[in-house]
Amino acid sequence: MFKHEKLNLLIFIVLVALQLLGVIGLMTRFQLSYLPIMLTLFFWGGMSTTLYLHRYLTHRGFEMREWLKFLFANGSAVVLAGDPVTWVGDHRYHHVKSDTDEDIHSPLHGFPYAHMMWLIRKPPGFRERSKRYAADVRKIWYCRLWQHSWLYILPHLAVAITLYFTLGLAGMLWCLYVPMLVIYNVTWSVNSICHMPKLGYRSFDTSDHSRNNFWVGVAGFGEGYHNNHHAQPRCAAHGLRWWEFDLTRYVIWVLEKFGLAWQVVWPAKVSLATGLRPVHTSHPVSVAAATFGATRSL
Ligand SMILES: [Zn+2]
Ligand SMILES: [Zn+2]
Repeated sequence: MFKHEKLNLLIFIVLVALQLLGVIGLMTRFQLSYLPIMLTLFFWGGMSTTLYLHRYLTHRGFEMREWLKFLFANGSAVVLAGDPVTWVGDHRYHHVKSDTDEDIHSPLHGFPYAHMMWLIRKPPGFRERSKRYAADVRKIWYCRLWQHSWLYILPHLAVAITLYFTLGLAGMLWCLYVPMLVIYNVTWSVNSICHMPKLGYRSFDTSDHSRNNFWVGVAGFGEGYHNNHHAQPRCAAHGLRWWEFDLTRYVIWVLEKFGLAWQVVWPAKVSLATGLRPVHTSHPVSVAAATFGATRSL
């Protein structure tokens, strides 16, 4: 179990420092001129995590234009969401081992562990595992290059330096590090809160502990309907009921209408009404199962 791995002090310091920059930003004076840039970076970084890293790259719920993939990949690098090979490898492994002893971020091992501490207690072999589980992602040239940390941080540094020299220190903190603080904690809440008993509801009888949480759903651009997602991992929509606000779903829908996305795996209209009981995706150790899950049910 990864919980017993040694703490990676460097990653711990980096993750705490990045969040501290956001907290310090909140204590500096806000100017209205920051707002459009701040919202743009929040949307770009957040959507890059949910739409690109998760629903496209990990689960292949749709196809989209190459320039859009590159744009979103850079958005995820700007907010340092995690290099795509590692992100996808870790997440597919989570789908394979959900809420078992080997899950990389289950609250079974404690809430702080599921929320953030798993990132700094990865076992020595995690890079090899990522390469195995995300072999398809390694074929994408920029994802392959970004396995080198010094290349991966370049988009982030470019944006941070530009903001510093145009808006000053407070502008840089408000526009970049405050959105990152929110994106990190909302993303991590999907792993922690959305696998906690009693902190949400279940629409599907999956054998993991995943739950739908409305508030994480709204803040996380739809990612909080996590039980829906575990039931149908490849589905491009996580919010399935009309009131399950899922911004990522709406963006994918708009992209499809404009011909920028296609082969979208939308939910079957009957799935909720018939009380679909999906195939359990936690135990078979197969990358295909982790990526595509119970899609045959859709
Ligand atoms: Zn999960
Ligand atoms: Zn997933």
